Amino acid sequence: MPSMMDHLVENLNRVHTEIADACRRAGRSPDSVKLVAVTKYAELADVRRLVELGTVDLGESRPQQLTERAGQLPAGVQWHFIGHLQRNKVKPVLSHAALIHSVDSLRLLERISSVAAEMSLRPRVLLEVNVSGEASKDGISMEELRSQWNVFQSVPNIEIVGLMTMAPLADDPETARPVFRQLRLLKDELTAQSLPHVKLTELSMGMSGDFIVAIEEGATLVRIGSRLFATPSPPTSP
Ligand SMILES: *Cc1c(COP(=O)(O)O)cnc(C)c1O
Repeated sequence: MPSMMDHLVENLNRVHTEIADACRRAGRSPDSVKLVAVTKYAELADVRRLVELGTVDLGESRPQQLTERAGQLPAGVQWHFIGHLQRNKVKPVLSHAALIHSVDSLRLLERISSVAAEMSLRPRVLLEVNVSGEASKDGISMEELRSQWNVFQSVPNIEIVGLMTMAPLADDPETARPVFRQLRLLKDELTAQSLPHVKLTELSMGMSGDFIVAIEEGATLVRIGSRLFATPSPPTSP
């Protein structure tokens, strides 16, 4: 479908431009922000095209689709696992993911640790924080992470490299700003209390609707799906 393909090029160019503009405004280097293309709802042909266009970081939220697509796409793709991870699905995810964004409990972190030991791996992970405190959201609470930080960072066979959050859904991206800011401040706070081997460098925050605000607040990984794959809406008649 050539017209869909053209839109991929256009969408990708726009998103890259907006990322670069947001970096410039925030006084940040454009290569300090990595685009993770979220492919969970995209057709395989479109994902292939995106990879051909130079996108190497892809995000999936279901272990089965991650496994399938890891087999269908070039080995150079860096897979990001961004969805809720059940304890019995840790192994397939560890087989493919370069980074797990969504470690939402100490129990899951410990499970990943023991599976990683069996597989002789040392996976890189982010801890998902429920900053907004919404009951419907996955994630470790800020209070728990603060009080248990020494327990989290002492779990072996794992590299905790940063934090991730999802902002509440809202039409106005400014609603997300305080959430993103709190995640950055929490990272700074935990960094000040980190063991020497623990380096929190990543902040995974920002999606299609709010990535610009996230970059202004310090995001290093933005997870963007619909803005990349959306087909153009038909022109509205005047
Ligand atoms: C689906 C998803 C995204 C991408 O959302 P868009 O609004 O389509 O950009 C980002 N992060 C997570 C965790 C997701 O599940």
